[in-house]
Amino acid sequence: MAAITMNNIVKKYGDGFPAVNDVSIDVADGEFMILVGPSGCGKSTLLRMIVGLEDITSGDMMIGERRVNDLAPRERNLAMVFQNYALYPHLTVYENIAFPLRLAKKPDSEVDQLVREASATLELDEHLERKPGNLSGGQRQRVAMGRAIVRQADAFLFDEPLSNLDAKLRGQMRTEIARLQKRLGITTVYVTHDQTEAMTLGDRVAVLKRGILQQLATPRELYENP
Ligand code: ADP
Ligand code: ADP
Repeated sequence: MAAITMNNIVKKYGDGFPAVNDVSIDVADGEFMILVGPSGCGKSTLLRMIVGLEDITSGDMMIGERRVNDLAPRERNLAMVFQNYALYPHLTVYENIAFPLRLAKKPDSEVDQLVREASATLELDEHLERKPGNLSGGQRQRVAMGRAIVRQADAFLFDEPLSNLDAKLRGQMRTEIARLQKRLGITTVYVTHDQTEAMTLGDRVAVLKRGILQQLATPRELYENP
């Protein structure tokens, strides 16, 4: 059973040309799936439909065996990692990671255990009392992922998380994300317009053009048969 199944997904804004046109993609459990294509090809729209931030015009969106078309974002148990990481500058790293657990009114002992486990996995133990403003880009990214981990999400969704960074940092962070994803073994869907990112990060790459799925293949297959 796939972790995320998109069956014949269509999205029309108003009565315009479909932004996403009959797209079917299965994301396997633990797989790192890239959605790539030029600006306007529909990749953000598709990601937003997975997470529940955008209504689906037709088709079925499945998470595991659940059809989620009509479920609110909070009922889907997914974690979106935003471009700016959406960290709270006035909170410590510990409280940033703990935030979803505080919202859910979890007892302090459980919060503490989950935050300690996540920060050990992410090698953030030494930074728990610091504020995001004093962290490197890579550390901030890990805090954002820590927040996703403690929510025990079924999948990570990334929307162009590296597009604001300079080339050097982007290369470092790319390595870091790939390493973490493999270590955590969490199903991941990652949107980018960057070919290099697509070819180096993904287990498979879905290539979109004007809302249509053009190719769905491993980076190796795409390299040999572009
Ligand atoms: P990408 O992420 O690949 O750049 P988008 O998913 O943002 O592409 O956009 C796909 C198409 O849908 C584009 O033609 C875009 O103009 C259109 N679109 C995106 N969001 C909206 C919206 N809120 N209302 C109307 N059209 C939109
Ligand atoms: P709450 O509903 O607990 O008050 P929010 O208003 O912050 O919390 O968010 C609404 C719901 O959307 C959350 O419960 C959560 O499940 C979901 N959500 C929040 N942030 C994200 C995110 N980054 N990625 C995916 N889902 C999220």
